[in-house]
Amino acid sequence: MVIKMTLMTGNEYRESLRKRKPLKIYLLGEQIKNPVDHPIIKSSINSVALTYELAQDPKYQDLMTTKSSLTGNTINRFCHIHQSKEDLFKKQRMTRVLCHRVSGCIQRCMGIDALNALSVITYECDQALGTKYYENFINFLKYFQENDLAGSCASTDVKGDRLKRPSEQENPDAYLRVVETREDGIIVRGAKCCITNTPYVHEIIAVPCRMMMPEDHDYAVAFAIPADWEGVKLLVRPAYYHQPKNVPENMKPAALSLGDCETFIIFDDVFVPKERVFLNGHADNKQTPFAGFLALMFAHYHRHSYTGCKAAMSEVLGSAAALVAEYNGIEGVSHVKDKISHILGTAELVFAAGESSALHSERAPSGTQVPDEILTNAGRKLAGEQIYEEYKILADLSGGLIAALPFLDTFYNKEVGPLAMKYMQRNPRVTPENVLKCFKGIECIGCSDIAGLLQVAGLHGGGSPQMETIAMMGRYPLEKLKDIAKYLFGIKKNLKRYERQEDFIVTPRAMLEKFRKALIAKQKREQKSK
Ligand SMILES: Cc1cc2nc3c(=O)[nH]c(=O)nc-3n(C[C@H](O)[C@H](O)[C@H](O)COP(=O)(O)OP(=O)(O)OC[C@H]3O[C@@H](n4cnc5c(N)ncnc54)[C@H](O)[C@@H]3O)c2cc1C
Repeated sequence: MVIKMTLMTGNEYRESLRKRKPLKIYLLGEQIKNPVDHPIIKSSINSVALTYELAQDPKYQDLMTTKSSLTGNTINRFCHIHQSKEDLFKKQRMTRVLCHRVSGCIQRCMGIDALNALSVITYECDQALGTKYYENFINFLKYFQENDLAGSCASTDVKGDRLKRPSEQENPDAYLRVVETREDGIIVRGAKCCITNTPYVHEIIAVPCRMMMPEDHDYAVAFAIPADWEGVKLLVRPAYYHQPKNVPENMKPAALSLGDCETFIIFDDVFVPKERVFLNGHADNKQTPFAGFLALMFAHYHRHSYTGCKAAMSEVLGSAAALVAEYNGIEGVSHVKDKISHILGTAELVFAAGESSALHSERAPSGTQVPDEILTNAGRKLAGEQIYEEYKILADLSGGLIAALPFLDTFYNKEVGPLAMKYMQRNPRVTPENVLKCFKGIECIGCSDIAGLLQVAGLHGGGSPQMETIAMMGRYPLEKLKDIAKYLFGIKKNLKRYERQEDFIVTPRAMLEKFRKALIAKQKREQKSK
């Protein structure tokens, strides 16, 4: 049997980006023509290119590639819809391993997290309402897989006043909305912010970012469009490192060739062909509840991805903390061990929460595997809460030089360089060059533009911490839990066997059931009052 491979190399990925029509990208107040070779953006592209390069490497293929559930062809795992617990385990491990190599965000998970969410929700919507969104989705997925595409997920709206619903906002475009439904498609208007990787992906996948009430129906919209589509404006904010000029290549940390771009996307009355629409409450109000379900499901898959990348991020910080402790000559000291163990313990717990949520995952009616919601959120929440503590420990053990190190070029200045290098000596068993590399590296990962971005991403990515609390507590069987206290305090005589995962496996599907019941109750109330 011939197995068809649909895998691009890193350079083919770069070439595929060059073949796009000119994008409307704005950077530093100007429109730029070519993001692929742009000196500030090109380093960000290297991170995503790694997901293509390692898929070609036999040492990584078990994690990076899999068989398409649609065609049986070998595809990159970043194009895959998870079909089993094993798939979820492997996605998490892949994310962890890749994030070690880019010391941060691998940037290709948002697209596939959105696609997994769409696979579940379009199917559910079709089953409930007889729509044809799953068919649209499957056709799009085939195209995505066969061309080994990268996608961004545009979920976060600019949102306006946080306490007002989309339809209550003074600016009606504060959330992305459908302004017109036509025979051949829809016209959308609005803006999404903080969207990772958009200048160097092929597709933008737009999904809602919150629950919607019936009045919000114009805002219940999901679709995919190419990044070079008419009317899409990308306001780009790259995070990148200062690039030294006159420094030997072997003195430059690997991190210097990497970067990360965030984008403020404006959809300026954009036409979306009907075959690329996955939800439209503007055309049919009954679809509106699926917006919240989709928002939640994307956040859910993304938080599960975080249990891989955040564990990796903690390990990156922990490895740097351990190395700098050695170079500073303090590695045997007890407070140092305590601090490093705190970082590593967090990494292990976050990863374990993701693994355990895969173990307790369930299959949605579409066939997509959905991680356990409580465990995913518990892991993601722990990661977000610890992120600043981990950076604090790294800064503590490094000392102030990570924020005050002269630029690398200065160490290669003929006059002062050798003298400066002499003063980099610390632990006598470590060369001054390696001490310099270590401090420059920690400056990159712990005290730079990108480090700042990763701290905020660690806290807010996939939803602010409060959102994880809401997701967890919304589904936690608290009344059943209280029975333990009632039994112990003599309020209840018997205690039924209680094991949260045994009798209460949860996925965001439970949310939709709750929503359905609330809608039915509302309709009944309205009928009664007529
Ligand atoms: C580096 C980075 C990358 C990102 N990448 C992506 C991406 O690729 N795609 C994407 O869609 N998003 C992305 N995000 C966005 C991320 O998901 C959001 O930042 C997050 O969901 C929080 O939303 P917000 O930024 O609007 O903050 P807000 O929601 O405004 O939160 C600010 C504060 O207000 C509180 N708050 C908000 N609403 C209420 C309310 N109704 N009642 C009480 N308190 C409230 C929150 O709890 C929080 O404390 C990224 C973010 C970062 C930092």
